[in-house]
Amino acid sequence: MLDNFDPANVRSLIGGKALDSSVRKTPILDPHSGETIAQLHLASEAEVTAAVLAARAAWQAWAAVPPVERGRILHQACNLIESRADELSAIVAREAGKPLKDAKGETAGAIQCGRFFAGEGQRLFGRTMPSGAPNKSAMTVRQPCGVAALITAANTPAPNFAWKVFPALICGNAVVLKPAEDTPISADWMARALIQAGVPAGVLNVVQGLGAEVGGALTAHPDVDVISFTGSTRVGRMIAEQAGRRLTKVSLELGGKNAFIVCDDADLDKAATWAVASAFSNAGQRCAAGSRFIVMSSVYDAFLAKFIDKTKALKLGVGDDCALGPVINERQLTNILTAIEQARTEGARVHCGGHRASAAGLEGGFYIEPTIIDGATNSDTISCTELFGPVGNVYRVETYAEAVAMANDSPYGLTACIHTRSFDRAWTFARDIRTGVAVVNAGTFGSEPHMPFGGLRASGNGTREPGTEALDVYSDLKDIYLITEPDRL
Ligand code: NAD
Repeated sequence: MLDNFDPANVRSLIGGKALDSSVRKTPILDPHSGETIAQLHLASEAEVTAAVLAARAAWQAWAAVPPVERGRILHQACNLIESRADELSAIVAREAGKPLKDAKGETAGAIQCGRFFAGEGQRLFGRTMPSGAPNKSAMTVRQPCGVAALITAANTPAPNFAWKVFPALICGNAVVLKPAEDTPISADWMARALIQAGVPAGVLNVVQGLGAEVGGALTAHPDVDVISFTGSTRVGRMIAEQAGRRLTKVSLELGGKNAFIVCDDADLDKAATWAVASAFSNAGQRCAAGSRFIVMSSVYDAFLAKFIDKTKALKLGVGDDCALGPVINERQLTNILTAIEQARTEGARVHCGGHRASAAGLEGGFYIEPTIIDGATNSDTISCTELFGPVGNVYRVETYAEAVAMANDSPYGLTACIHTRSFDRAWTFARDIRTGVAVVNAGTFGSEPHMPFGGLRASGNGTREPGTEALDVYSDLKDIYLITEPDRL
């Protein structure tokens, strides 16, 4: 067990100490059983301010630590997380309701992301450029922003933590993190691991609590210099409006309604296998999840039949032989089922799923049977709204051009995938699709830890995390001009 870690009582961590003043608590539920697994101590607005001030007080000393040394400390943190990876994975599997094998994969991804950014301490590149004047040198260097407010979603809690905290710290910022209220235990654990590995008190603070209350107080705080938010487009918009009034730098990683095109020349078995993984892995709770399956008419019936067969074979639960677990909470479950019902009322056909799972052992959890729908149009509400659950809509098109046009006709622009054997189609799709990620012959998947990820339109505000591009979020460039022999200028 990490120092002072209490998995039954999750408290805010401010200046390296767990808050014991919180009087309000809310239960943290296991999404698989609906049972209470811990108590979340809710930070007050004053405690959010205390966290921001602790970060403000600590950031300059951290910024003065050479980046190579900051990287060494972050490598130490990765070593510690790796040596206790099973502990972290078990926490994630329980709080997020997912098979342990999936949680282990996510922990490995979080460590990879952490190591990538620890290595950035040895690079943290600027540029040197020629000057227009003699005896003058011109260069850019990166400087930390100051206090970074980081807000994460619940779907993959360990990578979500790593994705933001490591780049913010390597750039020399002090952090106040607000993890999702449904999965706060792993964030508490990971923050303690970083502090135990040598990140100084006050440089990494965690405020625990509900979105509007604690997240809202954090993003509204005037001492915050950069905000990075992963979550819904609705909340992202509010944060951007608020930050815009203060001209605070903000990075938004938001939702998706991702298209998956199946062409008439595709390998239909492979396409159906990837369609299932795209729509239903992590119970569809991925910003990159495939949710609009756009299929050419001549293979429509054959593809749909394979997609349905493979989906019906999926096992629900949190055992390692299971394909998908529950959604994160009862509210999400209700929202998703309501959206399915509305689509049904408007004439869509539900081919499988469409209801809460009732099998023995699952009845207490927030399980939805994986659902395949067709008959909705691309402009119906269910086609334009991210559900963040195990629901795939299938659409019929006649031509490749129609498929790409439909894929692009969305409020979102995060990821997209095509299945084709044609080089021309693969390449023109990669060129013409209006998304941040394009995939050929696989699934709608998110980023590798060293690659930039982000979307267009309602999927974000143009920033990219992680990858080296995340350095642009967490540092500001400074131009430096050095003049020698000034008399000769
Ligand atoms: P959400 O927007 O409800 O919550 C996300 C986080 O924001 C939580 O920590 C929550 O407590 C906090 N929050 C809520 N209201 C807030 C407010 N008014 N002010 C400040 N913080 C607030 O989203 P969710 O339903 O928990 O997460 C799912 C969403 O996240 C989906 O839209 C999904 O696509 C998106 N997501 C995006 C990416 C990406 O990289 N693009 C990755 C994962 C998830």
